Parts: sequence; structure tokens; C-alpha cells
Amino acid sequence: MPVKYRDALRAIDPYKPARSLESVKRELGLTEIIKLAGNENNHGVSPEAARAFAELRPSLTRYPDMNCTILREALTARLGVNGDELIFGNGSFELISLIAQTFLEPGDETVIPWPSFGWYKLASIAVGAVPVTVPLTSHTIDLDAVLSAVTDRTRVVWLCNPNNPTGTYFTLSQLRAFLDRLPGGTLAALDEAYIDFAHADDFPDGASLFREYDNVISLRTFSKVYGLASLRIGYAIAGTPVIDAINRARQPINVNAAAQAAAAGALSDDAYYARVVAANARGRELYYETLTRWSVPYIPTQGNFIMLDTGRDSAAAVLEFLKRGVMIRGGTEFGMPTWLRITIGSDAENRKVLDILRELLGLAWLGGIIQNEEY
Ligand SMILES: *Cc1c(COP(=O)(O)O)cnc(C)c1O
Repeated sequence: MPVKYRDALRAIDPYKPARSLESVKRELGLTEIIKLAGNENNHGVSPEAARAFAELRPSLTRYPDMNCTILREALTARLGVNGDELIFGNGSFELISLIAQTFLEPGDETVIPWPSFGWYKLASIAVGAVPVTVPLTSHTIDLDAVLSAVTDRTRVVWLCNPNNPTGTYFTLSQLRAFLDRLPGGTLAALDEAYIDFAHADDFPDGASLFREYDNVISLRTFSKVYGLASLRIGYAIAGTPVIDAINRARQPINVNAAAQAAAAGALSDDAYYARVVAANARGRELYYETLTRWSVPYIPTQGNFIMLDTGRDSAAAVLEFLKRGVMIRGGTEFGMPTWLRITIGSDAENRKVLDILRELLGLAWLGGIIQNEEY
């Protein structure tokens, strides 16, 4: 008789490991693959983070500080919050799972805009909750539609701002209007993984909103602007009752020492942060100008990635990019099968992407609308 596992997990596809870059390289005869498929930071590691990481060696035999004391203090100063208004996780992936474990009973509803970050749904299903998805309007999270989907059984609403994969955002006044009407017993989880790249004047900051609305939690990560995706560290900001509740589900030693040290180093490196944000802004502008000139539809982005519409099934384009040494993301998994999502990288990487795009466009992909275009 097969070992029995929980019914809730039957709705989740088993994890399929992504093919290793090494095996893809061998198959396609490439020496290098530029990865622009995961919205990681392609601008190198912060020297301060690297130094802190290197200095860690003498304490490798010890358990890490389970309170993340140094990092916590650095963040309280920077964010203007108290230490007990923060919780750290092994990436924000873990924090998303912890929020699901803390606030969702089996059978509870949870509202998830779609397309958005896939883990909200899987983490919710894993605890037996019922995901209620709400389609985007004009590629943007529609807070009115989200509110209409909230019932007295809804415990958590997941709001990714800016939204991955579309890069769109909702404004501070839209969010306030939403929170004013959201029942107090329903948690609004604001995933602000890309907030550092957001440049709109009316972009909301969850780190201040939780004081006005005690059902708001804001999720942040060191994987994107701080360039530490491999070390797995993120944090959340909320009022102490929310943080206290999540701490009950958290394993005591969940953030490793290397992640804590490197994160504190990266956080102190203002020059690095400014360099990454500036490079992203340059890349964004290059994409906007070029795609506009080429009449390729794209979605203006507040993140470090951009979606563009190929007008036909984009899976072929993903493969053509890969053959040319660049890994990007097709939109099929997001229900946008003609779109591509491309991480904005270094200046050279962005030019390479546009070179490939120009080549594919000239080669009749998209009907050959462009000939010998310069950017
Ligand atoms: C990349 C990303 C995260 C970050 O997850 P980590 O586990 O901190 O690496 C969280 N949310 C969204 C929407 C993301 O795109």
C-alpha cells in the first residue's frame, strides 16, 4: 500500500527541477548562458557583502544568531520601525509559507490576483486553504475586483506590488481605498520584492502603512536589489501582534549566518544600491525607447524586468534566445502565451537581448516588420 500523504497536496504538481544551465549549455554547444529569466541581480555582488561573507569563516561551526541581531538593528534604523516589528525568513518564499501556516486554516479562502507570483497559491494550497484567483485588469492588480472576491471566509489577500510578472503597480491612494474597506480580520500581504526599482511618485510603501492598518504585512527580500539570491534571506514588516503570531510557526534558527552577514554588508553599501538602481533605470529606458521605435508592445515596469508582446506563441522565441545564449521567460505559465518576460540586466546584456530581438524580428518572427533597425 502506498504511503498516504495529505489530500491538500494532491492539487500541487510535484516540483520539477529546472534544467541545469550546464546541461543546456552542453546540448546547445554554448560556452556561456546569460540568465535573464529569474529577475536576479546581474550587476555583481556588493563588495561590503562579499567582505562580510568572507570574514564569517571562524564562526562556521556555530549556530547562527537566531535573532539576526545585527541585521535587525541595521534595518530598524533604516526603516524607522521597532525590532519586534520585523521577522526574517529563509528568503521571502519561507515568509510566504509561514504567513499561510499562521493565518490560513483548511477551508479558509485566500484571494490571489493572477498572473502574479506563483508561490502564494502553492503555499496556500499546501495548508488546505482555497485559493480564489482574480484576473488582472490591463495587466494590473484590480483592487476593486480583489475586494469583490473577499468574503467572510477570506483570511489572506496576496498583493504583489510591483506585480511579478507584469511590472505594473497600484498607487498609494488606491491601496488606502482598498485597505479602508478590507475587513480588519483579513490580512493584506504586500509583497514588495521589487520596491527598490519602483520609481512612480505615488508608489506605496508598506513599511509605513502597517502603523495605520494593523492587518498589513510588507514582504521584502535581499535577493533582488541587494544581489544575494543564493543566500536566501528576506524579511517582513508588520505590527507586533502579526509578527508574534508568525513567530509561533517559524523554526527558531531559520536564517543562516552567511545570509545575515552578507545582508548587513549589502545594506550598508549605499553606493552599490545606487549603482544597481541606476543601471536598471538605464536599461528600462533603453527597452522603452527601442521597443517603442520598433512598435513592439510592452508593459511599462516598476521592476527589474519587462514584459513584451511578440504577437505569436512566444515559446519559439524563448528557444531562439536560448540558442543565442540568453535565457528568458515565456508568458505561457502566466496565461500570457504571446509575451516574454525579460530581466533587465547589465547594459551589455540588454543590448544583446535587443540585438537578438532585432534579428528575430527581421527573420519574419512577428511578420518581419523591421529591417535593419538601429537602437
Ligand atoms: C523574487 C521574488 C521574491 C523573492 O523571494 P526570495 O525567497 O526572497 O528570494 C518574492 N516575491 C516575489 C514576487 C519575487 O519575484
